[in-house]
Amino acid sequence: MVTFGDTGLKVAVVGCGHGMLDTIYATLEVECATKGWAQIDLDLLIICGDFQAVRNELDLNCMSVPKHYRKLGDFHKYYSGAAQAPVLTLVIGGNHEASNYHFELYHGGWLAPNIYYLGAAGVVRYGPWRIAGVSGIYNTRSYGKPHGERLPYDRDSVRSAYHVREYDVQRLLHLRSPVDIALSHDWPAWVELFGDHDDFYKTKPHFFASALADRLGSKPAAELLSHLRPTYWFSGHMHTRFAATVNFHDGLGMEDALQRLDNVPEKLRAVLPRVPRSKKPPTPPASTATKTEFLALDKVGSNPTFQWLEVRNLDHPPHADSPDAAPYLDRTEAGKYSLHYDEEWLAVTRACAPGLNIADPVTLVVAPSTARKVPAASVDKHRRWVKANIVDKKLLQIPFNFAPHAPVYSPGSEVDQNQQPLEYPNQQTAQFYDLLQIPNRFAVSSPADASGEGGSASEVGMDR
Ligand SMILES: [Zn+2]
Repeated sequence: MVTFGDTGLKVAVVGCGHGMLDTIYATLEVECATKGWAQIDLDLLIICGDFQAVRNELDLNCMSVPKHYRKLGDFHKYYSGAAQAPVLTLVIGGNHEASNYHFELYHGGWLAPNIYYLGAAGVVRYGPWRIAGVSGIYNTRSYGKPHGERLPYDRDSVRSAYHVREYDVQRLLHLRSPVDIALSHDWPAWVELFGDHDDFYKTKPHFFASALADRLGSKPAAELLSHLRPTYWFSGHMHTRFAATVNFHDGLGMEDALQRLDNVPEKLRAVLPRVPRSKKPPTPPASTATKTEFLALDKVGSNPTFQWLEVRNLDHPPHADSPDAAPYLDRTEAGKYSLHYDEEWLAVTRACAPGLNIADPVTLVVAPSTARKVPAASVDKHRRWVKANIVDKKLLQIPFNFAPHAPVYSPGSEVDQNQQPLEYPNQQTAQFYDLLQIPNRFAVSSPADASGEGGSASEVGMDR
């Protein structure tokens, strides 16, 4: 038997998934062999968005892709049970997703057996590893808005559904203890300046134009990078492999790190954020780490394989032996760790829950969402609740509560490319709210629910 505790974490990371799960798992087998591992030795596969959890043809209509480019992909087989994910797979969302399915699992959950979605924002534990992620891409116009998109999506909401929201980023900014791995689909803004940007801008001149216009990358992701300072940060989206190391100085954040770079193109320096000398970060960073290793990867299938797939053995994090990690270290029979909820994240989620608003499914009316003003003392109070009601009761392990409830794909079925699916309230989300003992914002009552027939599809989407 392979021992994992002593040898670190065997991780595979993919940039954009683009629905090609069969290719990913087949290639993993080959890549692992080059390291003398079997695929089964891998602890974790991470996919940095554009995962495309398309269960059926109606889900495909919820993805923001021109009609003639829409492809069902491989995921439906993993959803129906026709195929099995051979490696525990952790994903975030990008800008090409079945947004309706991700909305059901706003707080995260199993998309299929062994495939876990982190949610709009989320933090999980895998053994001593603490992994945080934010889904979607940054768009200035949507950022401050609440989640106002409900089925059926129109031309606008099918696009805005995957935009990053300030509410979700603010929740991650409430974290006060270190994260080992962070994930975003689009890159943190300015991160390319910490790598070989000359070559990057030369081979991709349109990205340089975007950088000059101050439109390249995600500013919220940059703010999170500055706050969390994880050991590793992985991204997709730009369809290229790119590595960088962000060095933090004297506890100061990314803005300061940017100002210290001496090889920034002169034209670009003018648009970099300025740090007033007296300004201190508003809240202390979640980590005192002095550097973050950033790696972006390409989309599945690009050549050669190392452009889109990274297979690595990562050393255990420094806090692996701390009492804080103890509740997460149980092993499965196969000697692996399993995914757990994160104590601090559950407390943040609970503390910020009253500020979360989503659109009424019929009127689409939605109040603003806010998490910014939640005081640290409130998170502390909720953490005491989480400790007493979840940690001490040994309820931190994420239950394997996946059950298919949307129709599985059936070949030959006739579906109009404009038709939208019903809304399916997800029982995993309901169970998550039960765990936290707070009201379920995503509950949808409907005639189908009441009758108990044909799963729990909501009629609401169809009525409008
Ligand atoms: Zn992509």
